Amino acid sequence: MHSLFYDRARDIDDALALIAQPGARFIGGGTNLLDLYKSGVDIPERIVDITRLPLAAIAALPDGGLSIGALASNTAAANHPEVRMRYPMLAEALLAGASAQLRNMATVGGNLMQRTRCFYFVDAAFPRCNKRVPGSGCGAKDGINRQHAILGASDACIAVNPSDMAVALAALDATVVVKSKEDERRIPIDDFHRLPGDEPQRDTTLEPGELIVAVELPPSPFAANSHYLKLRDRASYAFALVSVAAALELDEGVAKTVRIVLGGVAHKPWRAREAEAQLTGKPLSDDALNAAAAAALAGARGYGYNDFKIELAQRAIVRALRTAGERA
Ligand code: SF4
Repeated sequence: MHSLFYDRARDIDDALALIAQPGARFIGGGTNLLDLYKSGVDIPERIVDITRLPLAAIAALPDGGLSIGALASNTAAANHPEVRMRYPMLAEALLAGASAQLRNMATVGGNLMQRTRCFYFVDAAFPRCNKRVPGSGCGAKDGINRQHAILGASDACIAVNPSDMAVALAALDATVVVKSKEDERRIPIDDFHRLPGDEPQRDTTLEPGELIVAVELPPSPFAANSHYLKLRDRASYAFALVSVAAALELDEGVAKTVRIVLGGVAHKPWRAREAEAQLTGKPLSDDALNAAAAAALAGARGYGYNDFKIELAQRAIVRALRTAGERA
């Protein structure tokens, strides 16, 4: 039998001291960690309960942006009036994730830290998974890879990041605020999740001992004209095959600022910068939208079962941009 030690952190300093113990992991909502623990995929020695820390506030920032505490539930963030009015794609992305019960438990910080749902990773009975057991191989590359990456993958891993919220945050230029015993640092969301490279066991750039305390959104001229489109096998409670976070700032019908971020296609939210550049300065004609979508997927590669994602993603980009354009 495995012994699991439990500590409840009294405050942030206490949490940072407790997490320094060998094999310790933070637990918030527990909607991913407990699943992985019960299935033998991720077995901490000690869990540090941070649910009593004062990190659930959602508040305006002096620069006009918005701070969302790491312990705000996904439900609270999605339903907050400032999020719904000023960053509608974030509310849409949060509400597209999981189920109502899970969103009530899951935290914003935990959402950023959730691990891939690759079948070969979440089932410890499969022998080959470089993310679970480094050096063991990748069962998905020549296996059932319908859910897997078409962009940014490596020989070691073709898994995708499962978060909807992170895709919207990437389009909104969010910053992740983290604390350690030594200092506080601010990580641009685009630098928070990693591509797999030859270390697929590392999902993020978070260092050992660091605690996510908040996610900050800057004021934005385009965030209100945005849309999160999620395409999946079921209408609810399913991970994205492809998703798109699209936002536009228009000037007399011409795209002045463009944001296109793809979900369900890579190990991290995939910012389609070439597509954004392609569309900037152009009206939202069919030709311009199709050209931008083609540019976004120019470097895509399928692994057999997931080849369909390349065309699906292009169609999704066009549809998401049209909806964002109608809101602008
Ligand atoms: Fe493991 Fe990544 Fe391969 Fe899935 S895709 S089996 S997570 S190494």
